[in-house]
Amino acid sequence: MSKGKIFVLTGPSGVGKGTVVQGVLKNLNNIYLSVSATTREKREGEKEGTNYFFKTKEEFESMIKTNEFLEWAEFAGSYYGTPKIQINNYLSVGKDILLEIEVQGAKQIKEKRPDAILVFLAPPTFEALEERLIKRQTETLEKVKIRLKKAKEEMKEISLFNYLVINDHLDEAIENVSSVIKAERCRIG
Ligand code: ADP
Ligand code: 5GP
Repeated sequence: MSKGKIFVLTGPSGVGKGTVVQGVLKNLNNIYLSVSATTREKREGEKEGTNYFFKTKEEFESMIKTNEFLEWAEFAGSYYGTPKIQINNYLSVGKDILLEIEVQGAKQIKEKRPDAILVFLAPPTFEALEERLIKRQTETLEKVKIRLKKAKEEMKEISLFNYLVINDHLDEAIENVSSVIKAERCRIG
């Protein structure tokens, strides 16, 4: 059996990564979403073990010390990280895995797993991104500002990625990310 592939979807907060991922998972079989650990506060409706593994700062730092993360980063005042264990379990039985993470984490994956396929999801305009983040109403206006500042830095890193998908029309973005995954599954070398 061939080994599974790692797909990384990155893009500024509010661009629609989570929304696009849900569409991609509906389109494709044999691909699993990595559930990250985080120290950020749980949002309304989020579930432990489905959206994230919610950790205290101390718990997360202890996981860093015991080398439990494939990658981790600090983003907008919280820690986020990809636990190694689930990744290895899926890949070893030939399943693909999708990581929805920010830029610093994507850089670490690129270094540790050069075979990973990195996709950057970008907004059609910066104004559209701002509007989506405000409309989502999950962060205070102050935190939205921090995320928008971060977005400007993240957009400068596009050249590190293998593919660029613009999330203007949602269906098209879902189709394009799904197509990247389908094409990469057919790659010979
Ligand atoms: P992220 O996971 O990148 O932070 P979300 O998936 O939470 O972003 O999307 C942020 C907001 O933008 C959500 O309210 C979502 O419904 C909306 N959204 C996602 N894609 C589009 C799109 N193509 N056009 C308009 N709104 C979108
Ligand atoms: P949010 O707080 O909006 O859920 O996530 C904030 C940012 O952290 C998003 O860009 C999201 O993709 C990213 N993120 C989520 N999980 C991880 C992870 O395990 N590692 C890294 N590096 N970033 C993550």
